[in-house]
Amino acid sequence: MPIMEQQHILHLLKGSSLWRIAEKVLSAERLSYDDIVELFRYPDLNIVGYLANTVRERMHQTNTYYIRNQHINYTNICNKHCQFCFFAKNPKDGGPTPYLLSMEDVENAIQNHVNVPISEVHIVGGINPKLPFTYYLDLLRTVKRVRPGVHIKAFTAVEIVEIARVAGISIKDTLIALKDAGLDSVPGGGAEVLSERVHDLAHPRKIGPTEWENVAREIANAGLPQYSTMLYGHIETVEERAEHLVRLRKLQDETGHFLAFTPLSFHPEGTYWDHLPAPTGDDDLRIIAVSRLALDNFPHIKSFWIMNTAAVSQISLWYGADDIDGTVHEYEITYPEGHIGQKRQILSRPQLISMIREAGRTPIERDSFYRIVSKES
Ligand code: SF4
Repeated sequence: MPIMEQQHILHLLKGSSLWRIAEKVLSAERLSYDDIVELFRYPDLNIVGYLANTVRERMHQTNTYYIRNQHINYTNICNKHCQFCFFAKNPKDGGPTPYLLSMEDVENAIQNHVNVPISEVHIVGGINPKLPFTYYLDLLRTVKRVRPGVHIKAFTAVEIVEIARVAGISIKDTLIALKDAGLDSVPGGGAEVLSERVHDLAHPRKIGPTEWENVAREIANAGLPQYSTMLYGHIETVEERAEHLVRLRKLQDETGHFLAFTPLSFHPEGTYWDHLPAPTGDDDLRIIAVSRLALDNFPHIKSFWIMNTAAVSQISLWYGADDIDGTVHEYEITYPEGHIGQKRQILSRPQLISMIREAGRTPIERDSFYRIVSKES
C-alpha cells in the first residue's frame, strides 16, 4: 500500500480502538489475542476488510488461486453424532440415506472425470466403525491405480484416529501405512473450534482440541502437509474464535506444515441445531478478514465457494482470501439430500476463471502445494 494511503488510514482511525491494531498490521507486527477479539467486535467490517486486504496484497498481490479437484465422500455412516452435522446418517426423520462406497464405486467415480485434468482428489467420510483398516488402504490404492500421479488429500485427524484404532497401531505407524498406500496430504476438518467448551457441547464423541493438535503434530512429523479449518457460526463465542486462531498460529510456529486456512460456514438445515440462524455474509467476510490478519504464518486463506456462495467468495477476494478452492466435483457434505441442484456441485474452469476476473483479481491454477499450473493473463 502506498505510504500516503497508509497515513490516511491511520489518520482516519486516530482515536478509535483499531488505530493501534492498524499500526501493527501496516508494520507487519504480530497481533495479540486481544487484538483478534477486537477485530471480531469492531463495527465497521469494511475497515477490517481493508486491513486484511493490505496483508493479502502484500503476500499475493492480485493473484487468486484455484485448483481442479474432485471430492469423494466414501461413507455417511458415522457414530459421532456431531450437533452441527447434516451429512452423517441422522436418527431424525428425513435424514440422509446411509451409504458406503465400494471400491468399484470409487473406481467409477474417478473414471467419470478421468478426461478432466484434475490434479487433486479430496477424500473424507464419516466414522464408520465397521470399516477395516484395509478399506482405507484400498481406497487410496484404487484412486492411485485409476488416476496415477493425482494428489490425494484425505482423512481428517478424526478419521486418522479411527483408522489407527481399527488397525490397532499407533498414529505414527498408521500415517506411514497410509502414505505408502498413496496419501499425499491431510485436510483440516475435525478441529471445528479449538475450544473445550464447544467440544463438550457440539461434538463430545470425537477427539477434542488437544488431541486434534497432537494428531496435527504427528502429521507434520510424518512429513505430510496439512490444511486447516474452523467451523463457525453456531454456538462459538468471539473469544473462542480468537482462541482457535491463536492455537493454530502457535501450532504453525512449531510445525510449519499448514498450507492454508479455510473458514467453514455452518449450515443449520438438517442438523440437530437447525433452530440456529445461519451465519450472515458479514460473518463470512469478517472471519476471512480476521483470519488473514491473525494467521501471519499461514501462506493462504481460502474462501470455500460451496459454503460461502460464489458471490460472497468473489467479495472475499478483497477481504483477505487469495484462494477460492476448486472445480469440486460431487461434494456431498454441506447440503441435505434432495436440496435442489446441490448433489453435484461443479464450477468449470472457465467459470472459476471468469468469477475471479469479474472480481478484479488474477486467476492462477495451482496444484495442491500451490505451485502454479497455469496463469491466465
Ligand atoms: S462431522 Fe464428521 S464425525 Fe461428526 S457426525 Fe458428521 S461425519 Fe461424523
